[in-house]
Amino acid sequence: MKKKRIVTGDRPTGKLHIGHYFGSLKNRVKMQESGEYEPYILVADVQALTDNFNNPEKVRRNVREVVMDYLSVGIDPEKTTIYIQSMIPEVAELTVFYSNLVTIARLERNPTVKTEIAQKKELFGESVTYGFLGYPVSQAADITALEGEVIPVGEDQLPLIEQCRDIVRKFNNIYGEILIEPEAVLSKEKRIKGLDGNEKMGKSLGNAIYLSDIEEEVNKKVMSAVTDPNRIKKDDLGNPDICMVSYYHNLFSTQEECKKVCQECREGKRGCVACKKQLAKNINETLEPMRQKRKYYEERPELVDEILIKGTEKARETAKETMKKVKQAMKLDYFK
Ligand code: SF4
Repeated sequence: MKKKRIVTGDRPTGKLHIGHYFGSLKNRVKMQESGEYEPYILVADVQALTDNFNNPEKVRRNVREVVMDYLSVGIDPEKTTIYIQSMIPEVAELTVFYSNLVTIARLERNPTVKTEIAQKKELFGESVTYGFLGYPVSQAADITALEGEVIPVGEDQLPLIEQCRDIVRKFNNIYGEILIEPEAVLSKEKRIKGLDGNEKMGKSLGNAIYLSDIEEEVNKKVMSAVTDPNRIKKDDLGNPDICMVSYYHNLFSTQEECKKVCQECREGKRGCVACKKQLAKNINETLEPMRQKRKYYEERPELVDEILIKGTEKARETAKETMKKVKQAMKLDYFK
């Protein structure tokens, strides 16, 4: 059976955290190991520049950091192709062609873009850049250049895939059936809240545990997690439903441990400090094999480069093929 091609990616703007792990990375490893897919992961440096155009060093630095995070969680370069977006010039070319097939009004209405623009008021002020508004077009180019068939996304990303499908349909209507219309597969993994209970986890919010955090950092961060504010003493009856420590126990501890945590908390038989220590221990046990793998690649940066060069060459071959077909269809193949 022909394997379906998956295209996913991340903006390299910082190291990846446990929110990324539960939100997408775990699922990517699962899909990679299922044998049903041919996965591609792009390190979206051009997209990262749309809201970091004034900080190229940050993007450059994080390309390798993100790749080491991938490798540390079990993304296997023998099974998954990892490549750098800016090194596929066909993507930039396709973006230009596709920009004729989408209206500004449609981009402005895109709920994902709208939310992100609102979050970036500080950077953009009252007027967003052409590049940021148009990043869904470039994302459509990423997917179609690689002939992506399956795109695993969270619910908040669905409008981006819908936008890509619109572009594909329009292109195929005008120029002929060339592009593959990708299918969004809703990832079952959920968005993980921050240690402070914020719906979003991130560096700017200071509420994230990174996959590369050392043991002491994890311990310190867990100690700062928000707990039931009504519990002052150990024998106060607690409510684990409003406690982030209990929330994280559900992610990192066994079912039996979670049951015990909740019961003892409600009965006032558990101290918050001991509860946090137990959680930190479990998080550290989960992260330790990832840290070891990461260390291996940190000590061998030439291997990371090799993976990226090989992956990018492979991705470019497909993108070149797509571009050939696109140019033929658009009557841009002047000299054969
Ligand atoms: Fe949270 Fe544990 Fe304290 Fe209960 S005992 S409030 S679950 S940290």
